Amino acid sequence: MYKSEAFSENLLDWFHKNKRSMPWRETNDPYKIWLSEVMLQQTQVVTVKGYYNKFIERFPTMESLIAADEDEVLKYWEGLGYYSRIRNFQSGVREVQEQYGGVVPKDGDAFLKLKGVGPYTRGAVMSIAYNLKYPAVDGNVYRVFSRLDDDAADIAKSTARKHFEDKVMAVMPEAAGDFNEALMELGATVCTPKNPICMLCPVQQHCEAFAEGTVDIRPVKTKKINRKSYRYKVLLVVNDKGELLITQRPKNGLLGGMWQFPMVDEDLSLAEIEDMLGMNLYQEEEWNHTVTHKFTHLDWLLDVYLFRTTDPAQGDYRLMSRDERDHYTFPVSMNKIYDYYLNHEG
Ligand code: SF4
Repeated sequence: MYKSEAFSENLLDWFHKNKRSMPWRETNDPYKIWLSEVMLQQTQVVTVKGYYNKFIERFPTMESLIAADEDEVLKYWEGLGYYSRIRNFQSGVREVQEQYGGVVPKDGDAFLKLKGVGPYTRGAVMSIAYNLKYPAVDGNVYRVFSRLDDDAADIAKSTARKHFEDKVMAVMPEAAGDFNEALMELGATVCTPKNPICMLCPVQQHCEAFAEGTVDIRPVKTKKINRKSYRYKVLLVVNDKGELLITQRPKNGLLGGMWQFPMVDEDLSLAEIEDMLGMNLYQEEEWNHTVTHKFTHLDWLLDVYLFRTTDPAQGDYRLMSRDERDHYTFPVSMNKIYDYYLNHEG
């Protein structure tokens, strides 16, 4: 039975001997731990390491991040995706400055009210930075506890979080931060979704799914996400100086505030596109090149077209030279299209 002290002792012993080295494990600074947790949502550890170090080098304190221009901050996030994370983080840090004198509150309820902070981030930051007893339940922890208890609860249901948080709290030792980290580490390195390494698992003797032979069917996850695909034309409009037309996405919403080449519905005619851009276009080329970009709930299918123009940019559009490329933050899909363009055009 895992609900014994031996369980947490076995897990913590293993963690102290085997934990992977990560830059955010070298600090107790709640700002840095908070940043690392925000970066790690939806992103692999190995990718985050490089981003984290560069980010902390440029924005070592909350003050430095608050003082920074949003566009510059976005540059340091470019490629990590899910850009609302960094915007919310900067807003949350600003709230800490304004409401708590620049000290991350040592109170989970107050911390949870900050912009962008959900129950997982609250649990991770409060326990790792301040050793407060809060559960930090992510996909790894759902999986580990489903297996430990041979629990068939559906992790796709909205009730799952509370169900698994209660399980974590029932066995949480005094070393709350290490315990939460150890659970995540176990899920990431040993109790993995496919082919878990049960033979090397430090808590195998406490694991009911291992004893029952049900590891492969835990956790249970029934709900399917209905993915939708949207097809767009992406317009590479180039003038005789080799400048390309770009525009900024609305601040709120998907990829808010990032820059892109004009993107229009797939059935828009040339005349409608010219009206929209306020310029004459000629020499249309479809490159028969489609870039796919996957978000959590939807896909973009981007068909790339090349147009020439001799007109100036109007309204919300502007022309960007090659040298200015680094002044703008583009989503991954647009970077791919730009690279394709450079290869194609030479
Ligand atoms: S014994 Fe296997 S299934 Fe059970 S916790 Fe360990 S790795 Fe996961």
